[in-house]
Amino acid sequence: MTTTYKNLIGGEWLAPSTRRYLENRNPADTRDLIGRFPDSGPADVERAVRAARRAFEQWRLVPAPARGDLLRRLGELLVENKEALAEGMTREMGKVLTETRGDVQEGIDTAWYAASEGRRLFGRTVPSELRAKWAMSWRRPIGVCGLVTPFNFPLAIPTWKMFPALVCGNTVVLKPSEDVPHTAHRLVELALEAGFPAGVINLVHGRGETAGKALVEHPLVPVISFTGSTSTGSLIGESCGRMHKRLSLEMGGKNAMIVMDDADLDLALEGVLWGAFGTTGQRCTATSRLLLHRKVHDRFLGRLAARAARLQLGDGRKPDTEVGPLIHQESLAKVASYIEVGRREKAELVTGGRRPKGAACAHGWFHEPTIFAGVKPGSRLEQEEIFGPVLSVVRIDSLDDAIRINNGVRYGLSSSLYTRDVHAAFRAMQDLDNGITYINAPTIGAEAHLPFGGVKQTGNGHREGGWEVYEFYSETKVGYVDYSGTLQRAQIDNYDEG
Ligand code: NAD
Repeated sequence: MTTTYKNLIGGEWLAPSTRRYLENRNPADTRDLIGRFPDSGPADVERAVRAARRAFEQWRLVPAPARGDLLRRLGELLVENKEALAEGMTREMGKVLTETRGDVQEGIDTAWYAASEGRRLFGRTVPSELRAKWAMSWRRPIGVCGLVTPFNFPLAIPTWKMFPALVCGNTVVLKPSEDVPHTAHRLVELALEAGFPAGVINLVHGRGETAGKALVEHPLVPVISFTGSTSTGSLIGESCGRMHKRLSLEMGGKNAMIVMDDADLDLALEGVLWGAFGTTGQRCTATSRLLLHRKVHDRFLGRLAARAARLQLGDGRKPDTEVGPLIHQESLAKVASYIEVGRREKAELVTGGRRPKGAACAHGWFHEPTIFAGVKPGSRLEQEEIFGPVLSVVRIDSLDDAIRINNGVRYGLSSSLYTRDVHAAFRAMQDLDNGITYINAPTIGAEAHLPFGGVKQTGNGHREGGWEVYEFYSETKVGYVDYSGTLQRAQIDNYDEG
């Protein structure tokens, strides 16, 4: 018997006004139907936004430490439910259990950080220019935040947005990816159990071009936070610009790992396998380019290809699986199209390039880990985000070469350098044009208490996580208290009056 799920609006579970549903299937075995989720329309979004707006009037007045206490309780519930959440996430998204456990852990860490931020949310008190006068600033909540999230971190990314928004005193409407609705359902169920008041957290399932668009364009939603592809981010940016909304965009990447001739090659080998093929290459920070110094190129490539060919594909819930499926058929077709691009561009297919054979992969969206060598800077394979298990190897002569090639794409999320030379490491941290640079570690692996995001067409200047995100979800207000009992005039040259 298939379960039919609902939206959470104003504390009630409601069927979509459209009466239409979307199927959620396991990408490792599409015969496995997880459930039917609302294919919501603008009327559902309207209802959710109104509920969030009503709840905001009370929630904004709850002291921030008390808002933080609820997030701490939600964090505890995530801990208690970690294993079940991870299992369910692997079933709907495909990545292996160790990774989905990590995804839940990131949500837990984000909860702890946000809970403690309820006791900080620092403003500033500074000296006034005038006598007997105080000057101070503090953070105010903004209103209803519309959160639009992608499929690849089904729990962590919603929490990166939702938890800081809530502790700052905003209410939220979450529109999760239509590919991973079940994890979002479980997250808001646990939030209700933690005791969040009705309407503070609302969940509207559905497709981007209908439910997502209605949320982005709703006039009562002054804040939009989006993570997803750069093309979707451009559309959202246009609407938000027209409507003067506060907008955070976290988008695509084409991240490079640089391996110099003095690198610890064993370490670099483990790093590139994890960076390129972890999450089946479906991470915004995935290592999709390997810039390999000519002196170690052939030796390293040979070892890498042999290891990549042996990676175990299958259902991520099985203990020996190392690489799961892609998220859906379109994603598989996109990867296949880039194999053709690589052939046309005369790159050398070193390993992979096909759908795997064998019973373990017969019913899912699997693709072999694939490596192209001899990839030319400026080619499509080197420039475009594929979002699958495809690694492009470029031969380099020097660190200068590597920095130029790294910086020669439109994205700027993460980069990594393997070297034993401290001068090279600091030079690279300065000159690689990315939001994040790792030294002697792969391009993936963010920590919840540091700002996360990218430059150029990866982002629009905001960051998720860490201390910076709290700026995004709050307005600065300034107050002056004049206790002199006289009219003192600021912005007038009056020092001689004192
Ligand atoms: P996507 O852009 O297809 O969808 C993301 C979300 O946007 C989904 O919820 C979708 O329903 C919604 N959406 C689609 N069209 C919309 C519209 N017109 N209006 C409003 N909402 C709309 O992305 P995806 O395939 O789910 O995720 C993969 C992409 O996300 C990759 O490009 C990846 O690099 C990026 N990503 C970036 C980061 C980061 O932090 N920079 C993190 C994870 C993923």
